[in-house]
Amino acid sequence: MTAAILDGKALASQLREETAEKVARFVGEYQSAPCLAAVLVGDDPASEIYVRNKQRACERAGIESRLHRLPAKTTQDELLSLIAQLNQDTSVHGILVQLPLPKGLDEKQVLDAVHPLKDVDAFHPENVGRIAQGRPRFLPCTPHGIQQLLLRNGIPIAGKHVVVIGRSEIVGKPMAMMLVQRGDGGDATVTVCHSRTKDLRAVTRLADILIVAIGRAKFVTADMVKPGAVVVDVGMNRTEEGLFGDVDFGPVSEVASWITPVPGGVGPLTIAMLLENTVEAARLMRGKEPTG
Ligand code: NAP
Repeated sequence: MTAAILDGKALASQLREETAEKVARFVGEYQSAPCLAAVLVGDDPASEIYVRNKQRACERAGIESRLHRLPAKTTQDELLSLIAQLNQDTSVHGILVQLPLPKGLDEKQVLDAVHPLKDVDAFHPENVGRIAQGRPRFLPCTPHGIQQLLLRNGIPIAGKHVVVIGRSEIVGKPMAMMLVQRGDGGDATVTVCHSRTKDLRAVTRLADILIVAIGRAKFVTADMVKPGAVVVDVGMNRTEEGLFGDVDFGPVSEVASWITPVPGGVGPLTIAMLLENTVEAARLMRGKEPTG
């Protein structure tokens, strides 16, 4: 079997067009654009690139983007004071704090300080709680992108056994929470694996859909995949030989029915969903009901 490609790049471009239409409607109604404020502390080169890409994508969709750049020696109080100011600013709809923060800053405290209605990454405990209860305000960008990739390629989720490898707050845990909810894009039977999972291969071979987010290049090999499974690779591992996912793409694509490439799979969807959440945040500030 040679797996069909789950083309995240193409879907992201379609999603960005849909968002741009929503932005145009918002501008038509309120004569101002949704606005995302990004906070970048320090000079980590990868973070610089991520923030620049997010800003460009905002601009292309008609979303205003503002960058607040702070030096690496910024104190916790200074950062919290900027967040408080952005929370108050009614012209800012979404706040994005680029992670990781430099050593010495308390990431959790900073993320908790972002107003839940402006929390476009969906990291605030109130938003995470809402996802757990099946009444989300915002969905976290990477898992939301993956869910859309499955849905819009007509891949059945209900009743399927999904195995998620990785239990991070950003990908693994919210992904599992979303897929286990009742209704469209959910109703899966979900198993979450991590570094303490015993006999990982025996578990992954049970998966109808295998979602991998661990951060180890080519970790998932063909013998870990059930023939015909759908494989979603979240990993982005920069090595001397280039950029690789967490899945050994060539051999696994001989076993799987569908597979995401790296790059061009999950990555582009993450930014597309950030734009979507920013428009949603702007609508919420205007008193609109969440579009769900
Ligand atoms: P993370 O916070 O680094 O967590 C890694 C998870 O993998 C942990 O739960 C860890 O288990 C588990 N793990 C590590 N080694 C394992 C092993 N040998 N067997 C089973 N589980 C193992 O991960 P993350 O932030 O979710 O990122 C994961 C990858 O996705 C990274 O490559 C990252 O760059 C990429 N990523 C991509 C996007 C995108 O937009 N494409 C977005 C976010 C992340 P423990 O909990 O037991 O330590």
